[in-house]
Amino acid sequence: MTDIPVIDIHMHIQPWEQFNPGPLEMMKRDPEHFELLTRLCDSPQAFLDYLDEEGIQAAGLVNYVAPEVMGFQDSVCEFITEYCKAAPDRLLPIGSLHPQFTPNVSDRMDQIAEMGIRIIKIHPPHQCIYPNAYRNGDENLRIIYEKAEKYGIPIMIHTGTSVFPGARNVYADPIYVDDVAVDFPKLTILLAHGGRPLWMDTSFFLMRRHQNMYLDLSGIPPKRLLEYFPRFEIFADRALFGTDWPGPGVPSMRGNVEQFLDLPLTEETKRKVLHDNAAKLFGLP
Ligand SMILES: [Zn+2]
Repeated sequence: MTDIPVIDIHMHIQPWEQFNPGPLEMMKRDPEHFELLTRLCDSPQAFLDYLDEEGIQAAGLVNYVAPEVMGFQDSVCEFITEYCKAAPDRLLPIGSLHPQFTPNVSDRMDQIAEMGIRIIKIHPPHQCIYPNAYRNGDENLRIIYEKAEKYGIPIMIHTGTSVFPGARNVYADPIYVDDVAVDFPKLTILLAHGGRPLWMDTSFFLMRRHQNMYLDLSGIPPKRLLEYFPRFEIFADRALFGTDWPGPGVPSMRGNVEQFLDLPLTEETKRKVLHDNAAKLFGLP
């Protein structure tokens, strides 16, 4: 496929037993696929073998707290840090907390940093919050950003629509992330999915305006990347490859890498996006 050691910054390995009935039903529609997923979520070694088969060197494993829509509790952080201990140079724990449901947000941020969570995920349409809600009184959200900035932990913010039952797409517009970048200038922000499929222009604007912002390509079908972002190459130093596997529309990790490699981009850009940018940001081999 390629000699580049691919880093996929956005995959989902989650504690399936926490799923609410609606989203669980959706995941179970393909029983064979569901069986594979539960097996990989139960065994880091099985997952590492799977990554080898798919030609992926390292992966960011996304978890977030969203009790209302998805069912995920605060303990997803403990789950994923434990899971990633199997191979710290290949598995990156991505965790979260919830400004309204996490009991003591300030203490929890200290714990999260201590436990080694590498990125904090904010998922507005599943957490039912605006990314800039701290400007309207959500002090807990302010604490999350302040402490992430202090500890040097990047924040990954989901942007773009979600079709999971119960998801609230009114929160999915990336424009609210502009406030976050303005108010927390030292915070590294990963703009997940580039606002697809409705708000690519907004994401393009945000990426140009804020130099501490990275574009997380997950969820964008690679063969459509240049349709979505015709001037993608100007972000060659701030774009991170990701698949959003096993999300809908991602049949295989390898397939996405191959599609990305087929794009008319320079070899240098491909190497940066598939490996170098994430390696630099997270100190990976
Ligand atoms: Zn995702």
